Amino acid sequence: KSSLPDVKERTLIAVKPDGVQRRFIGQIIQRFEQRGFKLVGLKMLQASEDLLSQHYSELRTKPFYPRLLKYMSSGPVVVMVWEGHKVVQTSRTMVGHTNPAEALAGTIRGDFSFHVSRNVIHASDSEEGAQREIQLWFKGRELLNWDCCDQSLTL
Ligand code: ADP
Ligand code: MG
Repeated sequence: KSSLPDVKERTLIAVKPDGVQRRFIGQIIQRFEQRGFKLVGLKMLQASEDLLSQHYSELRTKPFYPRLLKYMSSGPVVVMVWEGHKVVQTSRTMVGHTNPAEALAGTIRGDFSFHVSRNVIHASDSEEGAQREIQLWFKGRELLNWDCCDQSLTL
């Protein structure tokens, strides 16, 4: 019967290959840390076609889908799970519009990209999507339930 907000909401964030190549990993992590979210999983990998086709299964009929898979497999990605109150919605706001031409300055895409086919970062778009994506990219034991020194910092 805690009065604290739900602490368990999680989302999947990925620095895409262009974000890794352009050395944005640190700045992206910094934005989520300074917003107050808690990092519970992190790894760098070269994503397989199989993993990417599952990740983007909803887009398989889109004309840009083959190019999207080629882009996402063009180099390593850094995938992360972040936890906190309304982290799914808040991270979408932080990431900005899918098309960088419409992404506001101050958002990650608005500050680091200019084209939809090289938009630097992925963020889950719903709580259900986040759960599906987290299970796809991470094994349960790779997600750590560590204690923040001061719970009021992360709610
Ligand atoms: P978001 O990443 O904002 O959730 P979507 O799920 O609609 O956007 O699309 C997934 C990814 O597919 C985008 O981030 C982008 O890399 C790519 N993409 C989306 N639309 C286009 C497009 N019209 N042309 C090229 N790539 C696209
Ligand atoms: Mg999406």
